[in-house]
Amino acid sequence: MYSEVVSFIQKTFGTTDFLPLHEPRFVGNEKKYVADAIDSTFVSSVGAYVNRFEEDFSVATQQKYTVATVNGTAALHIAMLLVAVEKDTEVLTQALTFVATCNAISYIGAIPHFVDVSKDTLGMCPEKLEVYLAEIAEIRNEGCYNKHTGRRISACVPMHTFGHIGDIERIVSICDAYQIPVVEDAAEALGSYKNGKHAGSFGKVAAFSFNGNKIITSGGGGAITTANETLAKRAKHLTTTAKIPHKYKYEHDSIGYNYRMPNLNAALLVAQLEQLPLFLEKKRALAQRYANFFENNSLTFITEPKNATSNYWLMALLLENESERDAFLEYTNEHNVMTRPIWQLMNRLSMFSDCPSAPLPNSEFLEARVVNIPSSVIL
Ligand SMILES: *Cc1c(COP(=O)(O)O)cnc(C)c1O
Repeated sequence: MYSEVVSFIQKTFGTTDFLPLHEPRFVGNEKKYVADAIDSTFVSSVGAYVNRFEEDFSVATQQKYTVATVNGTAALHIAMLLVAVEKDTEVLTQALTFVATCNAISYIGAIPHFVDVSKDTLGMCPEKLEVYLAEIAEIRNEGCYNKHTGRRISACVPMHTFGHIGDIERIVSICDAYQIPVVEDAAEALGSYKNGKHAGSFGKVAAFSFNGNKIITSGGGGAITTANETLAKRAKHLTTTAKIPHKYKYEHDSIGYNYRMPNLNAALLVAQLEQLPLFLEKKRALAQRYANFFENNSLTFITEPKNATSNYWLMALLLENESERDAFLEYTNEHNVMTRPIWQLMNRLSMFSDCPSAPLPNSEFLEARVVNIPSSVIL
């Protein structure tokens, strides 16, 4: 049966050569804009393409402000500083996420606190979040506290897994009731919508990534988006070494970061963003083909949640159990078709194993069964 899957995937992509999970496509103005950036000599943290990218990205994501960064992890780091995540506070997030979410929390000296995800959306589960907060949280003058640890709960960071947006509205309204700011880890969700609203426009701040394996890429890159002008200005300031703008003087008013996206990367990214509508269309077509194929198959193709339009960044299957999963991974990888299990839960990694956690039955269920299959845009 796995041989049918392998031959379907090879037929779909038109090759029996090695098939990676996600390859970038450079079929537009990439070379032209990069050459232009080189000719301009503005290849570093100042230049027309960075500014142009920020404007274009705000339009693409229906958000007021964008600040471009060197990568998605840096965007998350700054996003959390913007909502006042501090050392020794707790940040609620998923155990089922890419490690960057928890790394960024840890850069501040804050502590990830894991909550479960929903099986249908692979995203944070609002019902479980609500029950859990009722049990552990207490609102004091200075904000929301974990009664059991005495630490402030400074933020909640839901992540849109593989570009699927779960019940983010409900998560935001629960967090509002507890005065917990929401930072969306939208690294995987450019081009994804929930009830017609783009990923990243639900929380106070959001972070995106343009790493080489994401839906569009600048080689390395990221973005912070927000509707709040004060936060946007602070993001720009913090990502540009906290330098007070001046023609020639060096004056810095806080510890800043060298996190601004170089113009050279932005040139590539402006061209990639022009391709986004095409990429989204092709990905949806591929998702549809997978969905049709797996309908008559014992493996389940994971489709977009209710009221959501997913970018189908990485396509995924749900297998029967862990041994099925291992057999599938073994067979496909042996036959030149790259597949990979979803991330190990964060609470299993040594550096996060002592972090506080709610029970995680759904995360554990998915961890043992979800695999990614080749998802590149087919032109
Ligand atoms: C890719 C990714 C990031 C980090 O992005 P980088 O640009 O690689 O630093 C953060 N969170 C999630 C969920 C991601 O998938």
